[in-house]
Amino acid sequence: MKSLENRLLKVRQDIQQGATACGRSSESITLLAVSKTQSPDQLEAAYNLGQRAFGENYLQEAREKQQALANLDIEWHFIGPIQSNKTREIAEHFDWVHSVDRIKIATRLSEQRPENLPPLNICLQINIDNESTKSGIELEKLPELVEQIHSLPGIRLRGLMAIPRANNSEEQQLDSFQRLANAKNAYPFMDTLSMGMSSDLPLAIAAGATIVRIGTAIFGKRSQKEQK
Ligand SMILES: *Cc1c(COP(=O)(O)O)cnc(C)c1O
Repeated sequence: MKSLENRLLKVRQDIQQGATACGRSSESITLLAVSKTQSPDQLEAAYNLGQRAFGENYLQEAREKQQALANLDIEWHFIGPIQSNKTREIAEHFDWVHSVDRIKIATRLSEQRPENLPPLNICLQINIDNESTKSGIELEKLPELVEQIHSLPGIRLRGLMAIPRANNSEEQQLDSFQRLANAKNAYPFMDTLSMGMSSDLPLAIAAGATIVRIGTAIFGKRSQKEQK
């Protein structure tokens, strides 16, 4: 079995190669290690190999890891669906939220962000392939949502996030990423495109990803059943 170290080095190499292939600097791409279902020990091992940004989908699980790893200088990203009764804890304990898709959530995160912390970095989640099973807003609704939330004081609207349809062809994946990139480019104040997972990393980088969210390729296949 390959070690965490080998896998992490391989992912870093893939990011480097993907960036070089399209004339980008790999420094413009942040690797977010998606650590859902992974134990605190696994996160600490990745941390000791230099990984700083970790992404979690489930609040309860994330809070347990945050408490276990409180002595580490981790940048915490929330990337899962958000229930409105969970916004306070998210606003208090994360640096980034990638999965904001309605005004109510954005407003609550802004109001509940503690004043001693910098504004919470957020991305709006776009349902880029209009799938009924996925969260996120349709692209057509983006201008209205941006208008409503971009001046909220407790949050900083950094950009857009999407998870393209899983069984798309490469051509379709690239098209989805490019549509997201075009949508972001309409807003000069946005600097973030959160897209690209273990299976579609090079395409996402070619289309302009600035945060890639990688789980399996770093930690291996998730064995533990995911909570819902
Ligand atoms: C699980 C997850 C990922 C990582 O997926 P892998 O295929 O394991 O790399 C990325 N983004 C989101 C929103 C996820 O839920």
